[in-house]
Amino acid sequence: MEIKINAVPDGEKRPKPQDESKLGFGKIYSDHMFIMTWEKDKGWHSPTIQQYGPLSLEPATIVLHYGQTIFEGLKCYRTADNTFNLFRDDRNFERFNESAARLDMPQVPREAWDRALQELIRLDHDWVPRSGGASLYVRPFMIATEPYIGLKSSSSFYFMIITGPVGAYYPEGFNPVRIQVTEKYSRAGPKGLGGVKTAANYAASLLAEKEAQQAGYTQVLWLDAAEAKYVEEVGSMNIMFKIGGTVVTPPVGSTTLAGITRDSTLQLLRDWGVPVEERKISIDEIMDAQNEGTLEEVFGTGTAAVISPVGVLNYRGTDYTIADGGTGSTAEKLFDRITAVQYGRAPDPHNWIRTVRVPQAQQAQQAVAR
Ligand SMILES: *Cc1c(COP(=O)(O)O)cnc(C)c1O
Repeated sequence: MEIKINAVPDGEKRPKPQDESKLGFGKIYSDHMFIMTWEKDKGWHSPTIQQYGPLSLEPATIVLHYGQTIFEGLKCYRTADNTFNLFRDDRNFERFNESAARLDMPQVPREAWDRALQELIRLDHDWVPRSGGASLYVRPFMIATEPYIGLKSSSSFYFMIITGPVGAYYPEGFNPVRIQVTEKYSRAGPKGLGGVKTAANYAASLLAEKEAQQAGYTQVLWLDAAEAKYVEEVGSMNIMFKIGGTVVTPPVGSTTLAGITRDSTLQLLRDWGVPVEERKISIDEIMDAQNEGTLEEVFGTGTAAVISPVGVLNYRGTDYTIADGGTGSTAEKLFDRITAVQYGRAPDPHNWIRTVRVPQAQQAQQAVAR
């Protein structure tokens, strides 16, 4: 597979953000993007890296009406000696193709994923932030591109990757969040789309999240759609509860996404000898533990924040403060270890890191050009 590279000339590159403490999340994009086309009779063709910029789509394009689209999210981290680390992107690749299968979209070949990521990040490595906690967010996605407003699967698709620098999630240290348990809305039904990263799930969550925010909470805690009894996820993160020394988390499946941070967290806890249980857990069991004083910690897991401690749970109109409302020791230890592996400061016994090759000479050259 040969990627055609239309590199942006130095004079046309956009200025890089100077103040990395003000990066935020999802507002700035790097100079280049990857785009590859699939057509029913041709398969994948024309892999290209070109300047980040607008797409041209007919108003009748399937993705705009029926949401035939999937995405992934991962990060590239710059280490102290300027190597560029991807964290478990093989898992993002597998999940992407599982999402594609569920949405009746074509599978992306491993070689295309690998080569596109390597080339794109090599070309835009100067966009990978230097300050602690900041990173380059990588967003692979696929969209249906056929113009057709009858309902059917598209006969053509784009597979694309865009990247952009994002700031430290906790620039001033951990900030435990306030969470509202919702019984009014549900996110995903059994055998539906909850287990895949597709637009519909996030569109379905927007109103619930706005209402929670208006009531003074950061995110929604989702219960199962059938009975509103079992806990599933928090916002777009997986959730864990430490009860009497054991970490309990809901199983993944058609209503709960198989998070890679969740999997990494469970692996570390097992390494450390902390008992873990993957099982259904009801909101009643959590409230009982809270009332008995055995609910030690609650935290979300996901690529954006890594670990997000929950300080307050609001359930049926009452605020419950978890332990002292601060960050628990397990959450803190997990955050420290996972980020240390990501930034190359800790050993990587599970082979979670894959390095993007950027020749030293090229790095020096770009540094001079800046
Ligand atoms: C992406 C996502 C997660 C977290 O997955 P990671 O691989 O850890 O980033 C959890 N839940 C939902 C709904 C998600 O979209």
